[in-house]
Amino acid sequence: MSAGLQPEEFFQSARERASQMDVGRGDAVVERVRAAASALFTRIPEPPVYRRAEDPSRKVAQALLPEVEKVLAEALAAGRDPAMAPALEKLVAALLAHGEALVHTASGRLEAAETAWRRALELERAAHPTRHLVSAPPRPPPVFDKGTKTSRYDPRPAPQASVKLVCPNTGCKRVGDYAFLTNHAYNRFVCPVCRSPFLAYFGELRGLEVEVRRSSKRYFFTVDEVGGNGSSRIEFEEASGQEFPAARRDLLAFLYTDARELKVVVNLTNQRLMWVSPASSCFVVTVAFGEGAPELVAFRAYRDEVLGKSALGRGFIRGYYRHGPSVARWVARRPVVRSGVRWVLRRVHDRLTRSGDA
Ligand SMILES: [Zn+2]
Repeated sequence: MSAGLQPEEFFQSARERASQMDVGRGDAVVERVRAAASALFTRIPEPPVYRRAEDPSRKVAQALLPEVEKVLAEALAAGRDPAMAPALEKLVAALLAHGEALVHTASGRLEAAETAWRRALELERAAHPTRHLVSAPPRPPPVFDKGTKTSRYDPRPAPQASVKLVCPNTGCKRVGDYAFLTNHAYNRFVCPVCRSPFLAYFGELRGLEVEVRRSSKRYFFTVDEVGGNGSSRIEFEEASGQEFPAARRDLLAFLYTDARELKVVVNLTNQRLMWVSPASSCFVVTVAFGEGAPELVAFRAYRDEVLGKSALGRGFIRGYYRHGPSVARWVARRPVVRSGVRWVLRRVHDRLTRSGDA
């Protein structure tokens, strides 16, 4: 009976489980526990924002708790080796905080869940080995000195990190080293081989949902922007069927052509990449304008950059993907409706282009 489950009971049962476990010793054990935790973290959802009857997130939280307990027990067992304890300390703290958040979510205590979840994300970040690459640089002293009332020029170079990226021009695909400014999520590059300009959006993975469909996969990425300017949601449908291993806090780069078409997602933490071969990803708009139309590009950019940033917009996108294909089929069979849809979308496009959003 979990309606009144408290974090202490969860911790106690993880400790008991750990005391009966023998996981072995050494670096390999630490790496195994770290990988298990990392894979688990990506599947832990944010606590719901408001209370609903029959909220599915409560069931999800309940279903995840035994897995968190298992990994936590393994981490505690591995940490009995004094040589390994320091390496696992932060991971144990993150697992404990996630366990606490899930216990609260499962019992419908949403405010407590939210607090624990935020702390868990901080601890997760602290436990992640690639943190140094993207953590905010130490704050420089103010350029304007209030005491002396003088301004000074800050001669230090902007913080940079070097990463391997691939040219998103599909006729080139050359891999090269690029230096990016870690205080900006968007960086513009030019491929030294084919001279194509491209845009990279850098973020740390916060959550990844993959919906497997009959002939494609739909990816929902939630990322915290590098530079600490907030988070955003990037969604697309992918037809090639490839795997894209990613764990929470991995550093990702989304590479766009100059026309703002997403071409590649690069996981800079494990050096894996995924070429995006779109599977009719903009149903209604695709029907009205055809693939590659400028209206489609503007609409997609609007979807990714504007709608994806608000809760209402994300709701719209979800509804759009759920009902989009059937609406599109219906529209395709009716030329009059088709031209009507096209008219509306063109108005939207004009507004977007004029307001500078697209
Ligand atoms: Zn190139």
